[in-house]
Amino acid sequence: MQPLKIDPNTVKGFLADDEGAALYEYAKEVSVLGPCLEVGSYCGKSTLYFGAGCQENGSLLYALDHHRGSEEHQLGEEYHDADLYDASAECLDSFREFRKNMKAAGLEDVVVPLVTSSGIAAKFWSTPLAMVFIDGGHSIEAAMTDYRSWAGHIMPGGILAIHDIFPDPTKGGQAPYDIYKLALASGLFQELAMVNTLAVLERVA
Ligand code: MG
Repeated sequence: MQPLKIDPNTVKGFLADDEGAALYEYAKEVSVLGPCLEVGSYCGKSTLYFGAGCQENGSLLYALDHHRGSEEHQLGEEYHDADLYDASAECLDSFREFRKNMKAAGLEDVVVPLVTSSGIAAKFWSTPLAMVFIDGGHSIEAAMTDYRSWAGHIMPGGILAIHDIFPDPTKGGQAPYDIYKLALASGLFQELAMVNTLAVLERVA
């Protein structure tokens, strides 16, 4: 893949190198069809790869995140990062870090931040999407909302990618795996690849 403008290892986040490279390659392939969307940008690690793939085609990446952190990022939780805690507002704020990273990566003309929840952003959404990457909250409610909000907007030939797929429940939470199974059972998607914990599905016609 093309070298990224900043080192992805300088960006906070939970995405492996091979998963990032796959996001880049698939985005580069399908973003000729239209804009793309990711759910759960956090500090922009996945956005860096996904956006670079979209940039190759002059496409756009809608980067959706309320930037208040998922359940596991909250104060006292396992993945809480004190650097991202806004003490004056008494909540997490990953947007400042996200914007800094997008600027450094030269992606401000490619990445369109949507700073809200999945349900709100999807309320009047009607733009067909070439690729959707779901990497939001890991509660079953959050994952189901993300799936129901966006899977139907993926155009035929487009891609649905889902992060954190753990078929073995002792390795990780089951909500992403549950929506992955739902997508396959719908008959609307077929599996293209499984890269580490990243499932890549194609919307069939
Ligand atoms: Mg993830």
